[in-house]
Amino acid sequence: MLLADKTCIITGAASPRGIGMAAARLFAEQGARVVILDLDAQAAQAAAASLGEGRHIGLACNVTDKDACLAAVAHVLDTTGRIDVLVNNAGITQPVKLMDITPEGYQAVLDVNLRGTLYMSQAVVPQMRAQKSGSIICMSSVSAQRGGGIFGGPHYSAAKGGVMALAKAMARELGPDNIRVNSVTPGLIQTDITGDKLTDDLRAKIIEGIPLGRLGEARDVGRAYLFLASDLSAYITGAVIDVNGGMLIH
Ligand code: NAD
Repeated sequence: MLLADKTCIITGAASPRGIGMAAARLFAEQGARVVILDLDAQAAQAAAASLGEGRHIGLACNVTDKDACLAAVAHVLDTTGRIDVLVNNAGITQPVKLMDITPEGYQAVLDVNLRGTLYMSQAVVPQMRAQKSGSIICMSSVSAQRGGGIFGGPHYSAAKGGVMALAKAMARELGPDNIRVNSVTPGLIQTDITGDKLTDDLRAKIIEGIPLGRLGEARDVGRAYLFLASDLSAYITGAVIDVNGGMLIH
């Protein structure tokens, strides 16, 4: 068991086909007590219940609301007494061109992806510092590395670039407390985030550019999270792990 008795918080993990839920399943299989945070309390509780065993937790938490992040972490600590892993997975995108980015769109995309990563990390760091251990995993994207993905607008690339830089800076600052911080940069993963935009033609065109010849699946990213959450990666911090099938090799 890679995560025996570890308390692992995953944000944005209530979406049934999402990366967070796939990770929650893998973490639970490896012995973790999983805490699912998402916008809707019922959806989060149902997702936690679907993991079985009755020991997993689902809570409403909008990661853009600092008080909500602090309250969720306080609740987890009351119940479990420790926090070993935080996966900053919650994110939204908008498939728009530069000139179509609105002030509201900019704020929403930057807030959920970047501000949410900051607020949740700030919420767990005091406990991880007290424990002198912890792993924080941040969800960036190939979009940040190659100047635009396929579904994200420029503000999404900027937000995910910010997440990667924030994670590196946190890794440097928190290393002395034995808190590791790493990022994951997926290519195109088949979840509901693409809405109805992924047509068969577009799918075939994208796959032509992927050496491994397929789109990613949510569990492909979940496995990278698992590696970074566990002691298998005990000497890895400030790293960026590509999960893109070779779409971008650099
Ligand atoms: P998804 O839409 O299935 O999951 C995103 C989850 O985040 C949803 O459950 C949603 O309710 C939740 N969420 C949204 N706003 C929130 C908020 N303010 N507070 C808390 N939760 C919130 O999509 P996914 O593809 O599983 O995305 C997971 C992460 O992976 C995102 O950060 C996304 O940007 C990133 N990502 C996805 C891909 C891809 O191709 N699917 C590629 C690279 C990165």
